[in-house]
Amino acid sequence: MPDVPQPIRDGKGGSDPGPRNVLLDRQNPDLLVAPSTDHGTVPNLKFSFSMAHTRIEQGGWTREVTQRELPVARTLSGVDMRLEPGAYRELHWHQQSEWAYILDGSCRISAVDQEGRNFLDDVRKGDLWFFPKGVPHHIQALDEGVEFLLVFDDGQFSENGTFLMSDFFACTPKSVLAKNFGWSLEQLAQIPEREKYIFSGQVPPPLDADRIVSPTGDVPRTFKHRMHAQAPARFSGGSVRITDSTNFAATTISAALVEIEPGGLRELHWHPTDDEWQYYLSGFGRMGVFASTGVARTFNFQGGDVGYVPFAYGHYIENLGDEPLVLLEMFRNPRFEDISLAQWMANTPPQITADTINVPRSLIESLRKDKQPVVR
Ligand code: MN
Ligand code: MN
Repeated sequence: MPDVPQPIRDGKGGSDPGPRNVLLDRQNPDLLVAPSTDHGTVPNLKFSFSMAHTRIEQGGWTREVTQRELPVARTLSGVDMRLEPGAYRELHWHQQSEWAYILDGSCRISAVDQEGRNFLDDVRKGDLWFFPKGVPHHIQALDEGVEFLLVFDDGQFSENGTFLMSDFFACTPKSVLAKNFGWSLEQLAQIPEREKYIFSGQVPPPLDADRIVSPTGDVPRTFKHRMHAQAPARFSGGSVRITDSTNFAATTISAALVEIEPGGLRELHWHPTDDEWQYYLSGFGRMGVFASTGVARTFNFQGGDVGYVPFAYGHYIENLGDEPLVLLEMFRNPRFEDISLAQWMANTPPQITADTINVPRSLIESLRKDKQPVVR
């Protein structure tokens, strides 16, 4: 079977007669035959949503990649969710802040903050939202349905552990509910006996027909942002859109939407703030991660995969396919910040670097002094 990849590199290794999972081997060529520069032990930095349990409900489904699936991922966790037209993700809140990116379709979202100020808007593919921790909210798909990525600022989060309105009602004596709302016990006869979570519904009316005027007004800063509508910064090997506290009021989470052209490279860099949580939207490529002390490991990624880079670890991402490699780089930090290896070298007296890596001083002097996040 000549088309089956074998763990052979430069005459070393040997064939693998099996048993083996050839489909996974094909998706992870840099695990089966790692670059010879990989050394030592790096924790696993990849988990695919396709390897996660899918919770199927009436009107939609959801699956999550948290620290339980990817133990190194302590800062952020992610949820992939689909709602059919009109279906609800129930009114709820949680201990973590929630950042979301619409992957497909559109939905209506609402929230009410601690001052009673409200928020209601429609979001579609390429938009994001951010709900601060504890602020209650809901999601309802519009007429084309919706799929979105949720990112929470805690690796231990679980989508199955949120605070649901129906569950709160089911867990409170009806006599207390009646007293709280000024209703009769008979009026509470049909309340749910357990949580609803995701459930079918009717596509809501036009946005203006759904608006409620709160006596304290609207939330002071919108929870919605049109991330993909931002003009990208373009480079020779791709483009970058950054959404952080400089252009949106997401207080705990920042993000970069990176598109790497075929043959392009997200340059060698690291982050001075925090770990990086990645979600791959499309394409195929690899990430090499440098962990210091002679240790490095390479992972392959495609649409639907999650990647992770511990704080300060050096890394690059290379597009190995024939379509753009698109990913979200996410941080539990208000600002997106990275340090470019090339920019560091270009802005340091050149003889120092030339002496360090044994190349002519003229090569160092020819480096661009500005940042080139994506190169070819
Ligand atoms: Mn939520
Ligand atoms: Mn990075």
